[in-house]
Amino acid sequence: MKKVYLDNASTTQLRPEVVQEMTKVLSEDYGNPSSTHSLGRNSKSILELSRKAIAKQLNASAQEIIFTSCGTEANNWILRSAVKDLKVKRIITSKIEHHAVLHTVQSLQNEFDIQVDYVAVKPNGEIDMSDLVDLLSQETHFTRKISSDKMKKWVPDDQNLNNSTEEIKTLVSLMHVNNEIGTVLDVDKVGRICEQYNALFHSDMVQSVGKTEIDLQHLHIDFMVASAHKFHGPKGVGFAFVKKNSGLQPLFYGGEQEKGLRPGTEAVHQIAGMAKALDVSYTNLETERNHISDLKNYLITQLEIEFPSFVINGTSDGIYTILNVLLPFSDDKTAMILFNLDMKGIAASRGSACQSGSIKPSHVLAEMLSNEDLKKPSLRISFSHFNTKEDIDLLIFGLKSI
Ligand code: PLP
Repeated sequence: MKKVYLDNASTTQLRPEVVQEMTKVLSEDYGNPSSTHSLGRNSKSILELSRKAIAKQLNASAQEIIFTSCGTEANNWILRSAVKDLKVKRIITSKIEHHAVLHTVQSLQNEFDIQVDYVAVKPNGEIDMSDLVDLLSQETHFTRKISSDKMKKWVPDDQNLNNSTEEIKTLVSLMHVNNEIGTVLDVDKVGRICEQYNALFHSDMVQSVGKTEIDLQHLHIDFMVASAHKFHGPKGVGFAFVKKNSGLQPLFYGGEQEKGLRPGTEAVHQIAGMAKALDVSYTNLETERNHISDLKNYLITQLEIEFPSFVINGTSDGIYTILNVLLPFSDDKTAMILFNLDMKGIAASRGSACQSGSIKPSHVLAEMLSNEDLKKPSLRISFSHFNTKEDIDLLIFGLKSI
């Protein structure tokens, strides 16, 4: 049975060039980059060349790239250190972020005395920019009230009877491309808004790195996060962009690796594989983007023919790699849709990776859809350059025979 892999927002197949690079490093370049002998120096050189290559693709400087074990770790590190060490007192984020951000922010809110605000999400899944501006412009009107029982609370100025004031440092955390619906945030605009209001800006760019041009030198961004397995690199490695002199401190302690910001012996083969994957992704970007966009348009045309009342969740101009659709299927077919596709060798997803196959409604769709529509089957189809028109035909055939 032919396997049809349409779950590329969950993870991607390695590029052959990446396998080749990693195999070479694994078998030949096994020195510890911290060792001073030639094998160690060789590994160190692979590490630093990888860092330079990644920085170049994103127009950042090499010192601003810090390797981590994954996107989740990088998000946790940045958000936690922003609160703990940079003394961020307020986080503005959205309810449609990945759980690596949402759950981290919730845990920080429980642990520290911070204010968390969620920016409004439009019914098409876009972030409401005017609400973001409203939230940011409110902040000068909040001060910290310290009551007699030592309970601290952020309250509006006019309710702060003892007039104790403290400047609130704010961090905005908004993802670039939503992993479930593919909506794209105007990070340039958000960066300029954050700069205007003196707020830090963190963006989870896990779904956009390697798939769209990113110029970190010209974006007003303090922190960003990427993960290799989303752009045809290996699992278990990612990186953070941390602007120079950010003041960020490590999440845990050990050696001097990554300037002490991320201790632990570096996974040289993973990092080299990630650099190779990013390099090939950007070299082939134009061709692969055209190929994938054609497939996405072809799928939309076929859905219009076979399931005319289907609806796109999100915007029609979302990222070319993701299409999330609400299908006009009856209740009895809804629960088993992924199972039925899987039986036919077709891998797709219902929501974010961790929820694939589960019947729990997606927290992203829950913010956008009516309760009635939430019960209907929504399917996330996510493409890569490995997909063909035949894959789309098989998906349509699979859906028709459910
Ligand atoms: N952020 C987004 C938007 C994602 O799609 C994912 C992966 O599902 C992550 C973060 C987590 O990345 P990782 O799997 O590298 O921890």
